[in-house]
Amino acid sequence: MSHAKDRPSILVTNDDGIEAAGLLALVEAAETVGRVTVVAPDRERSAAGHSLTLERPLRVVQTAERRYRVDGTPTDCVHLAVGNITGDRPPALVLSGINRGLNSGDDVTYSGTVAAAIEGTLLHIPSVAFSVDIDAQGRAEFDGPARFAARLTREVLRRGLPAGTLLNVNFPANTPRGVRITRQGTRTYRATSVVRRDPSGRPYYWIAGADTRPTGEPDGDHAALSEGYISISPLRTNMTDDPSVEDLKRWALELD
Ligand code: MN
Repeated sequence: MSHAKDRPSILVTNDDGIEAAGLLALVEAAETVGRVTVVAPDRERSAAGHSLTLERPLRVVQTAERRYRVDGTPTDCVHLAVGNITGDRPPALVLSGINRGLNSGDDVTYSGTVAAAIEGTLLHIPSVAFSVDIDAQGRAEFDGPARFAARLTREVLRRGLPAGTLLNVNFPANTPRGVRITRQGTRTYRATSVVRRDPSGRPYYWIAGADTRPTGEPDGDHAALSEGYISISPLRTNMTDDPSVEDLKRWALELD
């Protein structure tokens, strides 16, 4: 065992809030690999996306040694952790999760869990997001995923990740049959929300999760998960669609 100060510094955050069981499991796993600092939202911020809080000040409360809660988003947490909290020992790795519920396919654009890993990547730190499916009883099992996370974390520290690329890891609800490397899948979306009336008769709307169906690309994350495999998708922070750059050059340049 190396000396504590030689151990890699690992930042752990999430979007389910600092008290979430999935975060605690990931912290425990990451402690076997490096020196963990937790900077996480003080409450659930699921579906916060990659939002940064600009309209009000943020408060950081230290709850224990290297443990901090923030009244902001997952992205705020990574931003403050790297810029202000970890000081002269910036994290060698950012881990986010383990989220209660999948973050696969198009859902990664809503996910605060994935956004935290995007923020780490934008700050030039290798970053990995972890999420686990909820079983038929509404439970999420974090122990197996946490053990896998520790093994993957060791490898990512050793090998690094390409600049601008993060890993999005999703676990099936039951014991996995293996691991698949996948592409971000897609879903067919239908915007739905619950409409009710408040006591004065005015309608209110509650977005209760869009009605979606995986499109089922064979190399997509949904297919791997539905067949019982752990899905690892490498995602890029740069969203440029290269073929469209060429296509647009053929017709949009004449519009000025
Ligand atoms: Mn969440």
